Amino acid sequence: MSNEPSPTVTFDDRFARELAEMAVPWQADEPPDPRLLVLDEALAATLGLDPAWLRSRDGVRLLVGAGVPDGARPVAQAYAGHQFGHFVPRLGDGRALLLGELVDADGQLRDLHLKGSGRTPFARGGDGLAVVGPMLREYVVSQAMHALGIPTTRSLAVVATGRTVHRETPLPGAVLARVASSHLRVGSFQYARATGDADLLRRLADHAIARHHPEAAETEQPYLALFEAVIAAQASLVARWMLVGFVHGVMNTDNMTISGETIDYGPCAFMEAFDPAAVYSSIDQAGRYAYGKQPLAAQWNLARLAEAVLPLLHEDQERAVVLATAALDRFPDRYRAAWSAGIRAKLGLPDALDPTRVVPLADELLTLLHSGRVDHTSFFRALAGAARDDAEPTRRLFPDPVAIDDWLARWRALSPDADAMDRVNPIYIPRNHLVEEALAAATHGDLRPLERLVEAVTAPYDERPGLERYAAAAPPDFGSYRTYCGT
Ligand code: AMP
Ligand code: MG
Repeated sequence: MSNEPSPTVTFDDRFARELAEMAVPWQADEPPDPRLLVLDEALAATLGLDPAWLRSRDGVRLLVGAGVPDGARPVAQAYAGHQFGHFVPRLGDGRALLLGELVDADGQLRDLHLKGSGRTPFARGGDGLAVVGPMLREYVVSQAMHALGIPTTRSLAVVATGRTVHRETPLPGAVLARVASSHLRVGSFQYARATGDADLLRRLADHAIARHHPEAAETEQPYLALFEAVIAAQASLVARWMLVGFVHGVMNTDNMTISGETIDYGPCAFMEAFDPAAVYSSIDQAGRYAYGKQPLAAQWNLARLAEAVLPLLHEDQERAVVLATAALDRFPDRYRAAWSAGIRAKLGLPDALDPTRVVPLADELLTLLHSGRVDHTSFFRALAGAARDDAEPTRRLFPDPVAIDDWLARWRALSPDADAMDRVNPIYIPRNHLVEEALAAATHGDLRPLERLVEAVTAPYDERPGLERYAAAAPPDFGSYRTYCGT
């Protein structure tokens, strides 16, 4: 086996080249005993990376950044961010590195990025490391999100480092290799703006347009069009989260992308009993990022993006504020349009049906789900059965089955399409108790529960025999679930 990195891996360094002020050249730590835990072979192939080679010693060294090809220029990226409402002008990749960009099978530029690769100049008090459990959580949840058709960064691999990481207890260290259409965040624009360097802000916007929203370049006001495109992408993304019951957990501006991909799976969770106030993050004590508050949180973050890009929108800053405000004011409509189209599909109702008939019916349903503390995922999956004349499994989800009868009768009068419902309402999601079970086993060296969970959630709509426990809600003794910030 050769000790040279695969000659076929060629990284671009477009971010580092175009935005050098936001890129600190840096090197990953050399882990004492790297061992590959999981690899997404299909994703590797779309990036032109040979999965068999990635499993080799040199391949694994690439996946932890210890052996990068000649010419690669890994960098830690600078960004700022509002964390729980408070502005921090310098966050950046404290424990992460951008190895560079690869061109995927569709000709798109994709970042290959590492998390847990050692301290960088942005590390502040942190140790620069990551732990097996949380990195595998990002792996499994991002796999599920992708399979659900929700835009997301991808997880290529998790490698155990052989190093002990000290948290509340000693834990096994890991590096996650992450793939994204870019790592540009709202916080990247906040950082550029805070430097006061107008040229840097413009170059960042040009870079974002070229990579994510090229149609903006053809408009009369490309930077306003960029801002509008980000608003549209985020409105659609958060609607998708809401429809599937996903709670991100830490929607700080540094965790919101310009591309519209979900990023930074820390204390995230899928809601079980429907509840707008559902919070799973141990650090979100005020419920700022509760399930039902996510659309508002997104709009708040986009207002911070507006502030950052104001100098690009108009020479006259008062005019710029008017333009930005008008664009931002359209977020709620865009969000509602995306959500109504999605809920109509979940209810199996035809496209042509007037939204003014669908939305009140859906709102009424959510009130019933909330008061009955009904499992969100189980309800929508069971409901297709009710469209096929078997309403009992749906009714049984309610503490008082009669509570849903009147609603069911009015919904069935609209002739829902049960097969269409099965194509959009997942049966398998990464339920919290299953994720915890899989991560605990993996932390002790047994990867099988994780592999089985990944298998279930990567075909979320296809009901398969033998996977019953992956479709069931948590046992009552699982209690109120909390996740700890993904360190
Ligand atoms: P996150 O909460 O993961 O979005 O991270 C917020 C900020 O803290 C980012 O700047 C991270 O790079 C940094 N950070 C988180 N954990 C660590 C760590 N263990 N070592 C160094 N920096 C970290
Ligand atoms: Mg983050």
